[in-house]
Formats: sequence, C-alpha cells, structure tokens
Amino acid sequence: MTISTSPSTTLVEFRPLVGQSRRIHVNGEQLHGRRCVDCNGADGKLVPAGHVYTDAGEGASPYGWPVVVHSEHLAAGQ
Ligand SMILES: [Zn+2]
Repeated sequence: MTISTSPSTTLVEFRPLVGQSRRIHVNGEQLHGRRCVDCNGADGKLVPAGHVYTDAGEGASPYGWPVVVHSEHLAAGQ
C-alpha cells in the first residue's frame, strides 16, 4: 500500500469562460470544483470558471468537468 504525500494531478484541457483554452494540471479536488484551479485554494469566493476536459480514451469524447476559480483571478485577467 502506497501513501502519496503529493496529490496526483491530471493533465486536462481547460476551456475558461474568458480567454484562450490551455492545458493545465489539476488534482482531484480541483477537478471536482472544490478548489481553485488557478491557485489550489479552497477559501474565499469561488466562482464558475468554465470546464476542464479529461481524455476519455481512444474514440471517446472528452469528459467535461465544471471547475471554479477565485473571483479575484477573473478580475485580474481582464
Ligand atoms: Zn485562486
């Protein structure tokens, strides 16, 4: 039995509500919309940021997950 100290991350395609889509790494908490996909924080005001898409395998369509970010990141990006 292996205990990992660092949460494993997945490379996904992030399609934000604002701006260009890009490839980012997310951990399970971020994937499930419980942590900011920008800074990995869970405190403060988290707002919908768009979706990330995980590769579902050969021939399958990517699976979309709604993700969140802190509202201040959105303000800073505009
Ligand atoms: Zn954040």
